[in-house]
Amino acid sequence: MNALMKNDPEVFKLIKDEEIYQGKTIRLIASENYTSRAVLDACGSVFQNKYSEGYPGARFYQGQVNCDALEILAIERAKKLFGAEHVNVQPYSGSPANLAVYLAFAKPGDTVLGLNLSHGGHLTHGSKASATGKWFNAVHYNLNPETGLLDYDEIRKLALEHKPKILIAGHSAYPRQLDFKKFREIADECGAILLVDMAHFAGLVAGGAHPSPFPYADVVTTTTHKTLRGPRGAIILCKEIHAKAIDKAVFPGLQGGPHNATTAGIAVALAEALKPEFKEYARKTVENAQALAKALTARGFNLVSGGTDNHLMLIDLNNKGIPGKPYAVALEKAGIILNYNTVPGETRKASDPSGIRLGTPSVTSRGFGIAEMEKIAEWMDKAVSCCEDDAKLAEIAKEVEALCAKFSVPGIE
Ligand SMILES: *Cc1c(COP(=O)(O)O)cnc(C)c1O
Repeated sequence: MNALMKNDPEVFKLIKDEEIYQGKTIRLIASENYTSRAVLDACGSVFQNKYSEGYPGARFYQGQVNCDALEILAIERAKKLFGAEHVNVQPYSGSPANLAVYLAFAKPGDTVLGLNLSHGGHLTHGSKASATGKWFNAVHYNLNPETGLLDYDEIRKLALEHKPKILIAGHSAYPRQLDFKKFREIADECGAILLVDMAHFAGLVAGGAHPSPFPYADVVTTTTHKTLRGPRGAIILCKEIHAKAIDKAVFPGLQGGPHNATTAGIAVALAEALKPEFKEYARKTVENAQALAKALTARGFNLVSGGTDNHLMLIDLNNKGIPGKPYAVALEKAGIILNYNTVPGETRKASDPSGIRLGTPSVTSRGFGIAEMEKIAEWMDKAVSCCEDDAKLAEIAKEVEALCAKFSVPGIE
């Protein structure tokens, strides 16, 4: 980063500071990860300089010899990794990828059915705050407040009653696996397109640690930067019969030129995910989540659904006498980074809810194992009783930093 250091020391310093911060804290945000140096290099390449509206072999600009080869490479790797028939690697991120699916299969005012935001769904699954909730008639299914689990009978009932154009399976905060076969049956019964949004668990699918939505889904969207460990971006995978509709919706329906440098980063990440080590990574991510869930449960934390079988946990803090936000703020002071979150049956505002969400994709990428999960649970437990004591939180932060110093950080020297 010589040029950056010389030409813009202010930005250079912020990047260096962020490297240090990401190194010395325990990052438990379930949607975050550490990409490899190779991914970062690809994203910072001269592919930033190219415009290539259109698709390989059918562009609206000349000079695409390398861009075409790059995009085809990324597509082929994604097809191989997931066993998909058709792949579009151009969506700018997960939200526009989902919007492209709406554009492909629904008209404004049409009905879509997805998981309620406050129960773990995503904004783009029809939340009133999102364009998807303003422009479409969104109906939502909820988790069972007793079990914290999806209720497939309720989903089926709502689907038959509302006849959605699109049935969405997928989440940002559900600690369990999804039954794609059941979703398929419901979609067939009500005549809906089945969209699986695997943004959170795509890396687990890639590594064989979560059931695959293929061949059940008509369309699958995913971000590339969560468990999949690539750059910020997204891909859409679908059955061949939907290929034209999806491609047209992404470009020219929603976007202009693709971000080719991101495509390069995605191609690198997909090759990494095709390696045997990535299977190990996916397995360990779940193993760590389950170890952390067990250690937290032993300390009286109330895990929604009683545990996890993916990479994330949702904790209802009502029995701890502290809401999610002040606890998350206290943990940040202790060097443990996660986010406050609503829980099923939420009684507080979304901006100040009862729970927290945490996950193991990042810590697993830096090599943490079962012993470290035990330490994290211990620190989180300690922080409950000293939430307003900055000195005590700073002591924890020192211990956190000492542990972190023993582990290298992918992508950071
Ligand atoms: C993260 C996420 C998205 C959106 O991704 P962005 O890249 O932040 O736009 C979409 N769907 C689900 C389920 C997600 O978790």
